[in-house]
Amino acid sequence: MAAHQEKKPSEERKHKSTQNHTRTSQVQWGRAWEVDWFSLASILFLLMFAPLIVYYFIMSCDQYQCSLLDPVIDLLTEKKHLSDIWNKTPTLTYRAAGIYTLWVAFQVFLYVFIPDFCHKFIPGYVGGVQEGAVTPVGVVNKYEINGLQAWIITHVLWFANAYYFHWFSPTIIFDNWIPLLWCANILGYAVSTFAMIKSYFFPTNAKDCKFTGNFFYDYMMGIEFNPRIGKWFDFKLFFNGRPGIVAWTLINLSYAAKQQELYGEVTNSMILVNVLQGIYVLDFFWNEAWYLKTIDICHDHFGWYLGWGDCVWLPYLYTLQGLYLVYHPVQLCAANAIGILILGMIGYYIFRTTNHQKDLFRRTNGNCKIWGKKPEYIECSYMSVDGTKYYSKLLTSGFWGWARHFNYTGDLMGSLAYCLACGFEHILPYFYIFYMTILLTHRCIRDEHRCFSKYGKDWKRYTAAVPYRLLPGIF
Ligand code: NDP
Repeated sequence: MAAHQEKKPSEERKHKSTQNHTRTSQVQWGRAWEVDWFSLASILFLLMFAPLIVYYFIMSCDQYQCSLLDPVIDLLTEKKHLSDIWNKTPTLTYRAAGIYTLWVAFQVFLYVFIPDFCHKFIPGYVGGVQEGAVTPVGVVNKYEINGLQAWIITHVLWFANAYYFHWFSPTIIFDNWIPLLWCANILGYAVSTFAMIKSYFFPTNAKDCKFTGNFFYDYMMGIEFNPRIGKWFDFKLFFNGRPGIVAWTLINLSYAAKQQELYGEVTNSMILVNVLQGIYVLDFFWNEAWYLKTIDICHDHFGWYLGWGDCVWLPYLYTLQGLYLVYHPVQLCAANAIGILILGMIGYYIFRTTNHQKDLFRRTNGNCKIWGKKPEYIECSYMSVDGTKYYSKLLTSGFWGWARHFNYTGDLMGSLAYCLACGFEHILPYFYIFYMTILLTHRCIRDEHRCFSKYGKDWKRYTAAVPYRLLPGIF
């Protein structure tokens, strides 16, 4: 990233290398070329079971008041058969298909046709055309950063409808939640399959494609690095941010509206979940330009993992707390509510500050202050496909001196706060913290593997200087 921004013309920063080992090392960074049995087994497991997991969670709220155990007990005791549960599940409806099509079309419209105007009047906000990171073959893509604007327009319309126009009920998302699930699945599978076909027949940048030869791995992890349609429709940026993340806050608002409709009030736990997750979503859009430098955009290829994951997994499973609170309206005592708010805010502070420290450090090429001092760092180098050598720096000051991924630790604290807001009656709302712990630990290991392939011995020097991953002194 910064190395990417740093790729200034000065010849001492990059130079061609013709050595063979260079070629070997460069092709190894980025997504894997070879598939080990464990990765393959995990991928097959996810392809088969992830859609069922999502269905199970949503169905258990719809039919079992969010109990994860009761459906199993009913099936084991033969009180119910699978067919009974399935027959009770709402099917795809024309209404849901219409809502979903309109929703996605509207987000595409906002993404493609409305260039960013927020950066023109919001001080400090970075929007408009921005550059992404250097890809393994040395391409630097341009992106139209207009997510904040899309989020604001969408939410203004939402509130205008709720309080003034009344075109539709604010509970519309909750009321069509399962029919919408089928629509989201159709889009998720369609876009992943399209991306796979596209990578064979009309890739955006053929050199940045990676074929492992294993169909399932390629389908899941993607072949094309940055698939696009036309100049600006970037699959990764669109599907990562919208329709899933713009929808996240609307989904929570719809749950709050449902609580109001059912119980005549919105509980403080629902407000906490809306506020804490709202901050996280707004932070994402405020920092969308920074997001271009995160693993999702910089390193992951676009396949089912991102395509289906962004359409289905994210909007359905990241919003489980709000869904749960519709069925179990928890009113927290003031002390617990404040404690959870503080935990969430500290988590957010760590998450944001850590990400900001790295961003600032890389953007200024180390010419900045971290916690009031000149930052310490480790110099490192890597190669791109054409043999160009780049230099980069790994920060060892601030939170980056505490652990190698303290941003994940902050994220996990925030995630725990959302779950705690739901009390302790059921396990379902705690899915998120279990999942995030697995996701971020796995991501941390995956990222470190990639960084080691990229930086080699320089990465080892870095891990010796900052020995812990997430929790200083523990892990
Ligand atoms: P990071 O922002 O930590 O980026 C990792 C990359 O940063 C590395 O690949 C390396 O890239 C560079 N890097 C690593 N160490 C250093 C260092 N010491 N100094 C400078 N650069 C370094 O990870 P993510 O992209 O995964 O996460 C970004 C944020 O998004 C996190 O806060 C995470 O919690 C959040 N997130 C949330 C998810 C969710 O589902 N809610 C999912 C995933 C992430 P390079 O090649 O440039 O050196």
